[in-house]
Amino acid sequence: MVRLAQQLVRVASCNPPGNEAQVARVLAEAAGGAGLRVTTDEVAAGRTNVTVRLPGSGADPRTFLYCGHLDTVAVGSAPWTRDPFGAEVADGLLWGRGSVDMKGGLAAMLSGLIAITRSGVRPPGDVVLCALVGEEVDCAGARHLLATGGMAEAAWMVVGEPTGLRVVVAHKGCARLRVVVHGAGAHASRPDLGVNAILNMARVLPELAAVDVSGPPHPLLTGSTSAATVISGGSAVNVVPDACTVDFDIRTVPGQDHRELAARFEAVLADAARRDPALKATVELTYDRAPVTTSPDDALVTAVQGAAEAVLGRRPELGGVSFFTDASVLQPPTGVPTVIFGPGDVGLMHQTDERISVSELVDAARVFAALPFMLW
Ligand SMILES: [Zn+2]
Repeated sequence: MVRLAQQLVRVASCNPPGNEAQVARVLAEAAGGAGLRVTTDEVAAGRTNVTVRLPGSGADPRTFLYCGHLDTVAVGSAPWTRDPFGAEVADGLLWGRGSVDMKGGLAAMLSGLIAITRSGVRPPGDVVLCALVGEEVDCAGARHLLATGGMAEAAWMVVGEPTGLRVVVAHKGCARLRVVVHGAGAHASRPDLGVNAILNMARVLPELAAVDVSGPPHPLLTGSTSAATVISGGSAVNVVPDACTVDFDIRTVPGQDHRELAARFEAVLADAARRDPALKATVELTYDRAPVTTSPDDALVTAVQGAAEAVLGRRPELGGVSFFTDASVLQPPTGVPTVIFGPGDVGLMHQTDERISVSELVDAARVFAALPFMLW
């Protein structure tokens, strides 16, 4: 398993642009070589989803789904202590981009399936691993899987994103709102002839930043947050700017309607326009990923806790995380009970010097091998 994790880390699949085809091939070959059924699905040129199937005995038509992503974020500009694509193992740690998020998790999930295959014991239904492209940018692989019926048989889903082996039953959603303030261009020597979009944005921005984005309290999640993250405006130093754009990244909790959040922004702008008729603005929901939550009493949650307890010798706590996963695309439309569970320190995701504990990888693989049998 460690060798497989190393092979996956050594094949760069930074997104953008993704280019996951090569890392998909490494995963597919490892699975095929172990006797598992492998299908690949080209989502776009050079971007391939991989589905690995461990056939069950046929006694149950339901499928147990493991899910992960093949892409990683970029290396970043800060220098690394070790080569980000070297996949060095030292002092019990495997280093490299994607070791935590989440090639380590993919290696652990596939190793779990391989262990079941070697055992000769068959679960009643199929166990399927979906390794998807594009999670870090637009969830292209998950959207493709959903659109092509890949969730039809799934009765349970475990997403192997890093949780430090905590059993995560809820994560936040993400709504990105783009506010454009429209002005009127003019020669900079005659600002009186134009409407300065930057200044109008500056006036309304504090009110937008203060919009209440809170939702119903969730016992395992912190409250919703809003951050203005990108601003742009103006085209030349000698032209009064006719547009200014600010993007907001809002992290939401279960029960929130992202379109209703956009309406709250629109109400603030409408109010401002009543005070100043020259202020014209639009709001667009540019990115929409739903929050995900599964009841702590669900059989899947109990099974993951049981499998983890059997391996770790302690019952892991239930938790929630602030980042979202492919489950944002796959879970809300299907209602499939979903748990996020995987190896790796959440604090090292997307970081310089990303690294993962080898023993945690091994523990995760053992949980992934045991888990289907705790459900059936
Ligand atoms: Zn991830």
